[in-house]
Amino acid sequence: MHVIAVLNQKGGSGKTTIATHLATALMMAGHDVLLVDSDPQGSARDWAAVREDQPVPVVGIDRPTIGRDLKNLARKEFVVIDGAPQAADLAASAIKAADFVLIPAQPSPYDIWATADLVELVKQRIEITDGKMQAAFVVSRAIKGTRIGSEVTNALNEYELPVLESRVTQRVIYPTTAATGTTVFDQDPDGPASIEINALMNELKAKLI
Ligand code: ADP
Ligand code: MG
Repeated sequence: MHVIAVLNQKGGSGKTTIATHLATALMMAGHDVLLVDSDPQGSARDWAAVREDQPVPVVGIDRPTIGRDLKNLARKEFVVIDGAPQAADLAASAIKAADFVLIPAQPSPYDIWATADLVELVKQRIEITDGKMQAAFVVSRAIKGTRIGSEVTNALNEYELPVLESRVTQRVIYPTTAATGTTVFDQDPDGPASIEINALMNELKAKLI
C-alpha cells in the first residue's frame, strides 16, 4: 500500500483539488484507490457526494488515528489523504501514515514560508524513517505563461525538499469540476489539465514504485 498525504495547513493551496484528481487519475490508470478525507470540513466527501455514480471511494477519517484506521480498512494499492487545514494533530497523524507527503504550494514566497512548521515535521519524519518516507513540494495554481520567479525558487530551495517537475496550473476547469463531483478527466479528457494531472501521477508513481 502506498499512502500519499496531500498536506498544507494553508486553506486554498489546492489540496482537495489535487487529492481528488490524483485519486481519480490513479483509478483510471487501473489502480485500486481509496481517498481519505481528513478535513473535518469534509470537502472531499462533499465532492464525492454530489455525484451518485462517483467511482472513487472516499472515507472520512478526521481524527488523529489515520494510520491505525487505515490498517483496519481493506488494503488498497494507493491511499490518497486529503489534508486538513490548521490541525496539527491531524497533520502529524497523516505524516506518520504516509509514504509520501505532497505539499501543494502556490507560487508565492509568503505561501511557501507559511509551510515552515509542516516542513519541519516532515523532515523529522524523513529522518526517523531513514528516508523511507519521501516528500516534495508541487507548485499549485501556477499562472499559465508566467515563469516561477527567483524569489519562489529561492524560498523553495531554503527548505531542502524536492520540488516536483509537474505543476498544477490555475485553470477555470478545476473549480467547475468541483461543483459536479467530477474531474477534468470527465470534462476535457485530452486537455491540458488532464495532461498535467497525469504527469503529476506518473511522477509520484515513479518515486513510489
Ligand atoms: P484546499 O483543499 O487546500 O483548501 P482547494 O483545492 O479546495 O484547496 O482549492 C481552494 C479553491 O481554489 C477551490 O475553490 C478550488 O476550486 C480552487 N482551485 C484549487 N486549485 C485550482 C487550480 N489549479 N485552478 C483554479 N482553481 C483552483
Ligand atoms: Mg481542502
